[in-house]
Amino acid sequence: MSKLEEIVSLCKRRGFIFPGSDIYGGMAGTWDFGPLGVDLKKKIMDEWWKFFVENHDNMYGVDAAIIMNPRTWAASGHIATFADPLVECKECKSRFRADKIADNISESVTTEEFLATRTKCPICGKENWGPIRKFNMMFRTHVGAVLPDDDETTVEKNVAYLRPETAQGIFTNYKNIVDTIYPDLPFGIAQQGKAFRNEISPRDFILRDRECSQMEIEYFVRPDTWEENFEYMRKMQHEFLENIIGLNSENIHEFEVPAEDRAHYSKRTIDFMFDYPNGEEELMGLAYRTDFDLSNIEHESGKSMAYRDKNTGETFIPHVIEPSIGVERLFLAVLSTAYAEEEINGDKRVVLKLPENLAPYKFCVSPLLKNKPELVEKAKSVYSQLRNKYGNVTWDDSGNIGKRYRKQDEIGTPKCVVIDFDTLEDDTVTIRDRDTTEQIRAKTSDL
Ligand SMILES: [Zn+2]
Repeated sequence: MSKLEEIVSLCKRRGFIFPGSDIYGGMAGTWDFGPLGVDLKKKIMDEWWKFFVENHDNMYGVDAAIIMNPRTWAASGHIATFADPLVECKECKSRFRADKIADNISESVTTEEFLATRTKCPICGKENWGPIRKFNMMFRTHVGAVLPDDDETTVEKNVAYLRPETAQGIFTNYKNIVDTIYPDLPFGIAQQGKAFRNEISPRDFILRDRECSQMEIEYFVRPDTWEENFEYMRKMQHEFLENIIGLNSENIHEFEVPAEDRAHYSKRTIDFMFDYPNGEEELMGLAYRTDFDLSNIEHESGKSMAYRDKNTGETFIPHVIEPSIGVERLFLAVLSTAYAEEEINGDKRVVLKLPENLAPYKFCVSPLLKNKPELVEKAKSVYSQLRNKYGNVTWDDSGNIGKRYRKQDEIGTPKCVVIDFDTLEDDTVTIRDRDTTEQIRAKTSDL
């Protein structure tokens, strides 16, 4: 098995991530987080919120609705341009994203350029392609009482989309926040939440899924200060990824996106690439979006998006720096950094060396033997003591002690605390360290 397959298998075996709708044979491009996955995901999201929002006086949060007025997506350009190049094999009717099955072509590939690559169908091996067509990745739905046999106008009038990014929920609330909080520039608005993309071919586990969680900030700045604020945001991303989340800096590579590959709204974009087990992939993006979004909203809504400087009285539309990160992408980066296979005294073990602030449990408490009531009773009291103090503590009295250690290693629990007969005599316990597997004795009162 490849390292990615090992991680997928561990995720399922230990309850981090299951295939979506598993019981009905799955649902392509969707994944369900199990008990440990929810915990790790929530910790990652909470650390982000603490680092970027709570620790700054000029950052504000919003939690906007997922279904927004469709004019949002007309103004943002998503209805016109949020599309991937779709190509169909005329032999077997399979559909692909053209730039993912041919080498060295971009998202804006033309039919001629694609045919010139002499790509063969990954399913049937033939080379008989239809033209490249643009496939809009937004999920369409209908809002309100619309029946399947209603006339086309009624149906179209009620079309809505599941949001393809959280950013527009921020931009559409910019005016509300300026009018209620009166923040000085620069200030940021942050949002975490679900976003939906109807990927043509979802793949690579949670890297390219159809439903994901995003964490985005729109950082509003004076137009003439965008460069220094871009640098500031860039530095902050590294601090967060490396110091708070524990990724290795040597696995993060900045890629300056050339003008022709940048999103339609961006004047400068850096993709932060990460060395995933199956190769380098985008982890997050940092984009200078100019006043593209606010100007479009002003145009579409007819309401002024101008910001009035309290000191100078000047009015202008602020420019925006946007760091945008997918939670699942970060989740997989954390797992692949933590995942290790080691040999200890001839035994193979799998261990997740998660940073302590992210590990689902800080401690596992167990009695050496589960059929000795006096050990179980003492262990339960140590468990309560640690749980009251640290919160995230787990209990395990299944199997033998070696099996318990292996299980706790696999879910990344930093310390195992074992209560044995000596505990009853001198109130000391064994503490076993996840990373070194070393064991020490300590007083329960010192825990
Ligand atoms: Zn084919």
